[in-house]
Amino acid sequence: MTIEEPPSEHVKQLRDAYPRLLQTIGPVGMWFPPGWTRVVEDLCKALDALLTDAQAAQFQVEQVKEKYGSLRFYYSVAGQADAHVDIHDRGAHQHLVIPAEHPAGYPIAAIDVLIAKAEQETLITCASCGAPGTLREAGWHHVSCEQCEKTVWKRK
Ligand SMILES: [Zn+2]
Repeated sequence: MTIEEPPSEHVKQLRDAYPRLLQTIGPVGMWFPPGWTRVVEDLCKALDALLTDAQAAQFQVEQVKEKYGSLRFYYSVAGQADAHVDIHDRGAHQHLVIPAEHPAGYPIAAIDVLIAKAEQETLITCASCGAPGTLREAGWHHVSCEQCEKTVWKRK
């Protein structure tokens, strides 16, 4: 069971709105459910405001996706990317990050705070419609509001 493949229109609009961040990422590298469009847009807006042109030129979004019900937003700076490990054990899961070496003075901490905030927000944002939602851990992990839980999820 998966969320219906959304039109890529919401992804395309973001790429057009934030070319400094998203121009080089391919459509395969960026997918997220339509309900999270506002969260991802807020994140892109904040990153775009944070980075100077020189910093943005070194910044590359590697992958945006959903995993275990929440957003993952992976990036590299000057070709160096953090390693991400998801550990899933008896219903609990942990997301570990092994940090890469980054250029001196690069605002990594500020970037990671923004990304962590967006990830947290997707845990309470319905992936289908964007309303306040709850993480459902039975079966396929997903965040849904009461309404979508009945319609989008129970229908399948
Ligand atoms: Zn919903």
